[in-house]
Amino acid sequence: CGIIARIGDGDGVAELLDALANLEYRGYDSAGIAVKGSGACRPTIAKREGEIANLRAILGDGVSGSIGIGHTRWSTHGAPSDANAHPHADCTGEVAVVHNGIIENYETLRTELESRGHAFESETDTEVVPHLVEEYREAGYGAEASFRHAIADLEGSYAIAMIVEGEDEIYATRSGSPLVLGIDAGRYYLASDVPAFLEFTDEVVYLEDGQVVVVREDGFEVSDVDGNALQPTVETVEWDA
Ligand code: GLU
Repeated sequence: CGIIARIGDGDGVAELLDALANLEYRGYDSAGIAVKGSGACRPTIAKREGEIANLRAILGDGVSGSIGIGHTRWSTHGAPSDANAHPHADCTGEVAVVHNGIIENYETLRTELESRGHAFESETDTEVVPHLVEEYREAGYGAEASFRHAIADLEGSYAIAMIVEGEDEIYATRSGSPLVLGIDAGRYYLASDVPAFLEFTDEVVYLEDGQVVVVREDGFEVSDVDGNALQPTVETVEWDA
């Protein structure tokens, strides 16, 4: 149960896999990543039950990109399986999401989404999130506004990171589950815990419950739940890598 995200210079796959391996101590029953290039690219999802070695084994040249999210899963809803592994997508394949925690009202949300035609591919609580985002995007909201609307529909505990086709940004938030931003020259990271990316950077912003962070290739913005910009405190971690 750990999430990781990265955006910036170079390809992200190796860093995402390293960061997932660094989260191994938290335990997991599947691992997965979603990556995309900047511009019009669509997220490519690769995920497998079991060890990170199983995920590595299915990664080919087609899986690359500078913008990505990753996940090690500790199942709460749905057995350990390839289908239940994160990231999860919407019906269009344009939205990819990773999540730690539990969405308590997922059954209600899922029933509503299914009644409106959404087909689900997993048994997870998490999968409601990309489908909610999909609906808000169809209603005309941009990716960030759709993310904000979707998380406003959620009850429970979560750290969530999302990438979207055509958007050179990562959207993330937390409520009751940890999330920290890492800042490096030309690259940014998000993770459940500092050790995930400590080999890359020790400059961090600890996010607080209810905060939303939008991370771009050249900067980031932290805001409160209503979208008001906040001044985050950048700290240097004192731990040894
Ligand atoms: N509740 C989600 C699931 O079962 C996330 C679990 C986790 O935090 O790893 O897939």
